[in-house]
Amino acid sequence: MQNIRKKITVQGQVQGIGFRPFVYRLAAESYLTGFVYNYTQGVTIEIQGKKGDIKKFVDELKKAPKTNPLLKITSLDLADTELIVGEKTFTIKQSDPAGFIIAEVTADIATCKDCLSEMFNEKDFRCRYPFINCTNCGPRYSIVRSIPYDRPNTTMSVFSMCDKCKAQYENLEDRRFHAQPVACPDCGPKIKLCDNQGKEIETDSDKAISKTVQLLFEGKILAIKGLGGFHLACNAENAQAVQNLRERKMRDRKPFAMMAANIEKIKQFACVDKTAELMLTGIQAPIVLLPKKNPNTIAPSAAQDVNTFGFMLPYTPLHHLIFAEKKLNVLVMTSGNISDEPLICKDDQAFEKLANIADAFLIHNRIIHRQVDDSIVHIIGNDPVLLRRARGFVPQAFILENSTPTDIFAAGADLKNTFCFVKQNRFILSEHIGDLADASVYKHWLSSIDHLKQLIQADPSVVVCDMHPGYLSSQHTRKLKKDKLIEVQHHWAHIASVLAEHNINKKVIGLVADGTGYGTDGTIWGCECLIASLDDFQRFGQLAYYPLPGGDLAAKEAICSVIGLIKKYNLPIDDKLLKQIEPDKEKISAITQQIEKNVNTIQTSSLGRLFDAASAICGLGSRNNFEAQLPMAFEAIADEKITEYYPFELKEQSGIVTVDIKNMLENILKDKSDKSVISAKFHNTIAQFFLALAKQTRKQTSLNTTAISGGVFCNRFLTKRLIGLLQNNGFEVLFNRSVPSNDGGIALGQAAIAAKAVAKG
Ligand code: ZN
Ligand code: ZN
Ligand code: FE
Repeated sequence: MQNIRKKITVQGQVQGIGFRPFVYRLAAESYLTGFVYNYTQGVTIEIQGKKGDIKKFVDELKKAPKTNPLLKITSLDLADTELIVGEKTFTIKQSDPAGFIIAEVTADIATCKDCLSEMFNEKDFRCRYPFINCTNCGPRYSIVRSIPYDRPNTTMSVFSMCDKCKAQYENLEDRRFHAQPVACPDCGPKIKLCDNQGKEIETDSDKAISKTVQLLFEGKILAIKGLGGFHLACNAENAQAVQNLRERKMRDRKPFAMMAANIEKIKQFACVDKTAELMLTGIQAPIVLLPKKNPNTIAPSAAQDVNTFGFMLPYTPLHHLIFAEKKLNVLVMTSGNISDEPLICKDDQAFEKLANIADAFLIHNRIIHRQVDDSIVHIIGNDPVLLRRARGFVPQAFILENSTPTDIFAAGADLKNTFCFVKQNRFILSEHIGDLADASVYKHWLSSIDHLKQLIQADPSVVVCDMHPGYLSSQHTRKLKKDKLIEVQHHWAHIASVLAEHNINKKVIGLVADGTGYGTDGTIWGCECLIASLDDFQRFGQLAYYPLPGGDLAAKEAICSVIGLIKKYNLPIDDKLLKQIEPDKEKISAITQQIEKNVNTIQTSSLGRLFDAASAICGLGSRNNFEAQLPMAFEAIADEKITEYYPFELKEQSGIVTVDIKNMLENILKDKSDKSVISAKFHNTIAQFFLALAKQTRKQTSLNTTAISGGVFCNRFLTKRLIGLLQNNGFEVLFNRSVPSNDGGIALGQAAIAAKAVAKG
């Protein structure tokens, strides 16, 4: 039989994860000749041999993602090409750096089992080496400066490989073949322990680790340089240490993330279901929010007023070595930053900013080029849902059906910002950046945009932002002077983010539960029922507007929305309750007058602020010291067994269905039941009126697919109830999983809408 030759182009997550050696071995087993190389959009393979052998080869290639969890093939194209006479071998050729650079750098991956067993094997030359890694694990995105992903383009370029490492790096049969960060104690990065003035305490690797553990055990606070930035760590079972960290970091009540020695330890403190266990032990190793078990030995101030703990497992060799000392069960591991500033990843910055917080610093000399926070996941039903998308997930692209002819930049929102670039059919969403109101975060946002733009060599001529006149992200984008500026309504972008991540574009019933977003009528929206696709949207229903004093105060102090709702619905409220929410009488009368005279007062359908008001009326506090503190506390007490809800009314006003909640509020005010019952009934009412809105929309449009999004859907109680109700009533329900339903997903939605607009011309 005659030989044939095929050219195979493979796209997806195919670089830097051992795909080329895999192809090499497969070719050898199949008696084929040819070559493989990385090019800017993926991997190219030319293969020559018998038709049957080539078919077998391609079949095996398609099955490869089953055995390599890092591998993701999005397209695999075959074309005939000319035979090369006399070709005898199969080779791995040099990467081709020319052309359109779009190939995918992979995300940072938790240490794999093979590396772990080597690290704890006394005979291995990398025994107890804190930077052991291979093609299946270790740093990627956080160390890459440019692509193609090769060692000279990473922060590992300053370490020249020793002979042993080099032999593995160059050996096709080795797990470390072309593992760019490969290193060993002889040739690679090192750790050292310093005091908070930067003075060296210990430079021996093992001694530095045991001294670190000793200090943590004694209740000290350590700044530990990790994969994507610094953590501030202390013993989570030491109440005083956790309290000290809270005070020094000036973080009042926001829960801390924790890292436990192993999954068994986590199970002692929290309920871990199958989905949660898969996420915790998965290659991304995110923080997973888990229902608390009570009683437990975690310091009370680690996570107050919430019914969950945020746990992750060790994901770097250094973390594993720290827990291997067997002195600590669980550490608080919170981001190394000051209040709302960006995560710190440089040594000098750490010493400058964290010297008053940390007693000692465990650092290393592998440069973190790009800071990447820990990702956060929670579980809705059997689905892991991202609340913060960063380490382990970024820069994995979302691949959409159609390619755009021009590159697109989407700015995202001002809170929990992420931004997005579109190149061809790839949507590359940035890591979590933070709240742009902080000047240092804003600066970091600008430089991160430049970084990513340069990394993927994007040249956007279309830019898209929120239509909010005051958003910093929008103001910046409007000034960019590109060919086309698209401004997108905030809640349309939320719904579009669901459509984009599910890769569908059809008209859906979009149910939005959000804090605030600028509306097309100049008011502040937040609880909406939209008929939406990526092409356009129309507002079908909403929570009836209520007045709210303008400015930042309204999102912090519940008294603002309480008075707004009292005024709107003429509610009877006794002075005792009002005084409990706000003791300052003058403040109450000032806010009341502000609303009555309509001075600096906005009309809003914000659901977030309604949650604030209901939480405060129930006596859970009156102030959000961090975002959604009151609603989270309110959710935490809701009784799962309760299915009743309060009455509400749907009314029709100038073509828009509005939800009137006078009845609900009056009932809450006189309800003498336990708080846990009131909370559940309140949550149920919200779910019920969304269901009613969806039904009404279905009646008028015959649409049957709902998409739910918006920051309030970070509330698991509400989300689970609503999904259940919608499904029981025959609706198809789409919700955010791979991007957050909060404003961290906005950029993807904006980008998808812009890509559609560009495609239409
Ligand atoms: Zn490994
Ligand atoms: Zn070495
Ligand atoms: Fe939002």
